[in-house]
Amino acid sequence: MADKYTDFVSRGWGRDLAKRLGLPQPVRLRRYEPGAPLVPGPVLLIGTGPGADSLETALKGWDVEVLRDPGIATAAGGTHDAGGSASSSASPAAPGANAPTGGTAKLGGIVLALDSITRPEDLAGPVLAAGRALRSLAPNARVVTVSRRSSTADEPALAAARAGVEGILRSLAKELRSGATGNGILLAEGVSAEVPSALGALRFLLSGRSAFVDGQFLTVGTAKGELPADPDKPLAGKVAVVTGAARGIGAAIARTLARDGAKLVVVDVPAAGDSLAKVANEVRGTALQLDITKPDAGERILEHALSRHGAFDILVHNAGITRDKLLANMDAAKWDAVIAVNIAAQLRINDALMGSGRLPDGFRIVSVASTSGIAGNRGQTNYAASKAGVMGMVRSTAARLAATGGTANAVAPGFIETEMTAKIPFATREVARRLNSLQQGGLPLDVAEAIGFFASDAAGGISGNVLRVCGQNLVGQ
Ligand code: NAD
Repeated sequence: MADKYTDFVSRGWGRDLAKRLGLPQPVRLRRYEPGAPLVPGPVLLIGTGPGADSLETALKGWDVEVLRDPGIATAAGGTHDAGGSASSSASPAAPGANAPTGGTAKLGGIVLALDSITRPEDLAGPVLAAGRALRSLAPNARVVTVSRRSSTADEPALAAARAGVEGILRSLAKELRSGATGNGILLAEGVSAEVPSALGALRFLLSGRSAFVDGQFLTVGTAKGELPADPDKPLAGKVAVVTGAARGIGAAIARTLARDGAKLVVVDVPAAGDSLAKVANEVRGTALQLDITKPDAGERILEHALSRHGAFDILVHNAGITRDKLLANMDAAKWDAVIAVNIAAQLRINDALMGSGRLPDGFRIVSVASTSGIAGNRGQTNYAASKAGVMGMVRSTAARLAATGGTANAVAPGFIETEMTAKIPFATREVARRLNSLQQGGLPLDVAEAIGFFASDAAGGISGNVLRVCGQNLVGQ
């Protein structure tokens, strides 16, 4: 499963050789460690207005040094010069007080507050200011835009400016190097940059928890949610059920949610009972041997969680299978098996739970989809139908859970280093693994971190989202 190529080109003569030959040079990604600084250096905050000011306050509250640049275009159409002092500036900065100069710490990140732009011409000032600071970014730094979601209700110029941010961010993410990523937060109309889920999303995107999330957007729809008292234990006191948890991504999800403070119920088929018991012991949770396609699966999950743990706050639908065949060769058994496990079971379990009247307010559903469900994949019509179906399901379920403050979201992994992907023939695997902006596969942990974020109180205002964890895979949107 190890990515030996990344090890080889990360140091010594392997690194020199790769450089000379112009080969991909993936770097070791910065991943979350409890207690570690949020970002590897000061953050340059570009933009003016209340949005930028509240982001500054939040960043400082997280012990991040903040440098300010108003990012305003000059009358001549250019922008103020970069450079100037690297000292943190408490005020909404005089022009030019921004990127570090020689000898100062490299930037750990750039945050662009673009929530008050109204026309495409407004983009030049802040975006070119970010451009000038890019060479000052530390390895594994972060660029995060905070802007408004465009909608058909917007005036055309406003919609163009807002949609323009998405094009900029996705392109910029492809230009970043050395493990740095670019992601964005889209605020719905009437939602300010200081609501808990905007700040929760900012923290997630700046941190090592989002190592393999690149070129993506999180949409904050409401002011609901709550930042955790302890950012290293965002799931303290929650009871979470994870399906397909005997191995692979599901086991990583169980470990990650347990690390973050949740009590776990791990579910898998009876045939995987031994591995499931090991995972349950490791996370000090309980095991439920259950085929999720059974008609009473929802009721059994609910009974187990409530009788053994006295609560049930989070459900992670992770169990999934593939039965790949070109459609011309597809038989009904392969088609039906994939639909039954990957989507029909999730629908039936959700119906049973939501109809039980026993779920708490604020219940969280997080489903594992796949980039195959977005971009399509040769030989995977059945799998893509099920995974695109999962995305449709969470959007619809989000609306149904909204009245009780619950959320439904999905995570769509790209190439993840698991037993499943280790079986892909070498050449095909190498291509699949490198075809993303970070030039490497993600780890099960990376998928788990995104799920942990959606499951947390901080994400209470985020629902109906599909977040790709794919290193900005070059395939698909
Ligand atoms: P995996 O095969 O290693 O693990 C899946 C687990 O689900 C297994 O333990 C299996 O026993 C369990 N399972 C299968 N059918 C079940 C059923 N009917 N009831 C209960 N449990 C059942 O797969 P993985 O790579 O860890 O994938 C986990 C999820 O991530 C799946 O939904 C998969 O489609 C998705 N995914 C994986 C990748 C990747 O690169 N590995 C990429 C995109 C999406």
